Amino acid sequence: MDNRFVSTRGHGGRPDLFEAILQGIGTDGGLLTPDFPLAVQSLESLQGLPYPRLAATLISTFAPAGSEAIIAEACTRAYASGAFPQEVVPVVPAGDVWVAELFHGPTAAFKDMALQLLPHLMTASLRQCGDARRALILAATSGDTGKAALAGFADVEGTMIKVFYPQDGVSPVQQRQMTTQTGHNVDVVAVHGNFDDAQRAVKEAFASPELAQACADKGIFLTSANSINIGRLLPQIVYYFHAYLTLAARGVLALGDAIDFVVPSGNFGNCLAGVMARRMGLPVRRFIVASNRNKVLTDFFQTGCYDIRRPFHKTNAPAMDILVSSNLERLLCMLGGDATQTSRLMQALATEGVYRISDAQFQSLRSLFAAGWQDEQEVLDTICRCYRATGYLADTHTAVALGVAEQYRIKGDTTPTVVLSTASPYKFPASVCQAILGKALPDAEAMEALHEATGVPVPACLADVMTRPILHTGIADPADIINYIKENLN
Ligand SMILES: *Cc1c(COP(=O)(O)O)cnc(C)c1O
Repeated sequence: MDNRFVSTRGHGGRPDLFEAILQGIGTDGGLLTPDFPLAVQSLESLQGLPYPRLAATLISTFAPAGSEAIIAEACTRAYASGAFPQEVVPVVPAGDVWVAELFHGPTAAFKDMALQLLPHLMTASLRQCGDARRALILAATSGDTGKAALAGFADVEGTMIKVFYPQDGVSPVQQRQMTTQTGHNVDVVAVHGNFDDAQRAVKEAFASPELAQACADKGIFLTSANSINIGRLLPQIVYYFHAYLTLAARGVLALGDAIDFVVPSGNFGNCLAGVMARRMGLPVRRFIVASNRNKVLTDFFQTGCYDIRRPFHKTNAPAMDILVSSNLERLLCMLGGDATQTSRLMQALATEGVYRISDAQFQSLRSLFAAGWQDEQEVLDTICRCYRATGYLADTHTAVALGVAEQYRIKGDTTPTVVLSTASPYKFPASVCQAILGKALPDAEAMEALHEATGVPVPACLADVMTRPILHTGIADPADIINYIKENLN
């Protein structure tokens, strides 16, 4: 088998999986997607596999023949070496729906599912490509991704990571989570200014020929760990199968029965992995795409028109505060769009802030997706109502999905519904505390109050974050970041 990837815009090379992971993005600026039919799986043969084996089986189908053992080793390191509990993704009931908890990794958020595996896939890719260089990951973060990336790359051989966070743009808990990160290859730097300042500075670093040369002189290349890398998408296919097989094992459904997934969405990577799982034979009836007040996706799925000409809202589900969902570009291709059309739409988005898909694409969209949204007050109400009715304590992002699931459940419909839960309630304690106890408290006190009121255990990684030693105190001006990186290349 000669599995190759192509760019959504048609001119991005034809890398295999390992090359695609190192490349990150198509050379034409598009996203790399499989240029082969996805391998349809027999659900029977996947039954009973432990999570790391399930991951290895599914992800290997994207890799060149003969690399199964390499993928399996990466999956074992990610999911069976203590970073996750034995039950990697618990599937628990909450009233009429099931909740698949994607937040039991080392940073208590969904990003861990992919960012615990990506570094191992990256070192495997370096080895497979005979590339002796070291990978330097640069990331600007407004919060959660930075910490998950740090935790994933910490002490992974052949890699280094530098995370830049806005001095004025992260919560005290988020800042502590990052500045206490251990690992010989990690670096965390505060940047004067807000997230946009940090992001712009990192983009300039990626584009700097001078920095690229300084890195090359030391056998280093720059790369990113953001969710357009195909290596971040593939690990997310696994939990869709896992949730389905878990319900089958419990007798909630029989193999082959249909299922619905409700996905709290931002960049659309989570949901897109579900669409790929469906192409691999998972019997999904529909995906319900859940948004917060930044409801670009809701409008798109209801009208076929993607329109970012609107105000941006800071909400209580901040990881979904996104107007440009990059991974939608891959969906357009999967719905039969060709590279010429995709390039044209992306051009329209960049210049006019709006595009419309074809009628045929919109028809297939309507058959597979529903979409809805929740505002901030609805999120708080859902957290409170769900907790009172079922005892399930949801975070704000999960609550967006739970609220939308309620809107869309048809009376008498027996198709099982799985809500993907993307963060521990203790990751956003102030909002959850407001919802449950009706009072505003700072993060640390809110955590304690919530624990006392509900008895839900605080994840170990968050419990002691305010008392762990601070290891990173670096601070830089956005204009000095390139120099800072050059001077710290070891
Ligand atoms: C990243 C994130 C999301 C959104 O996932 P996408 O793949 O970007 O759609 C939702 N909730 C949380 C907590 C996240 O960290």
